[in-house]
Amino acid sequence: MHEITLVTGLFEIINEQVAARGIESISAVRLKVGALAAVEPMTLAACFEVVAEGTVAEGARLEIEEVPLTGRCRGCGERFRIENYRFICPRCTGGDVEMTGGRELYVESLEAICNPASGTCRKATDCQR
Ligand SMILES: [Zn+2]
Repeated sequence: MHEITLVTGLFEIINEQVAARGIESISAVRLKVGALAAVEPMTLAACFEVVAEGTVAEGARLEIEEVPLTGRCRGCGERFRIENYRFICPRCTGGDVEMTGGRELYVESLEAICNPASGTCRKATDCQR
């Protein structure tokens, strides 16, 4: 299953952040997922819940923002949203289209509670304390 691999990768990122910032618990994880990443949000959320059990992210909200597929025409420079995987420029009907968005899969931010004693609490995570 594709999603469990993603969630495992996601937890590698989370664990790095937990170690680096002295995070005590995570209340929410915001993800950006491109249309081409072929992720089923419901499945991803279910996997996340299972993997998060017993970790600092147990019970955390998973917020998934889907990024639409976008492209740029190499012929005329037009930027547009690609619908139904039609890589054709709507302005000049050229087919030389560079993909500019839609492959994303990354952690946008973590909502976390840091351990103030660690001295590593930074604004980069939305620390609730
Ligand atoms: Zn064009």
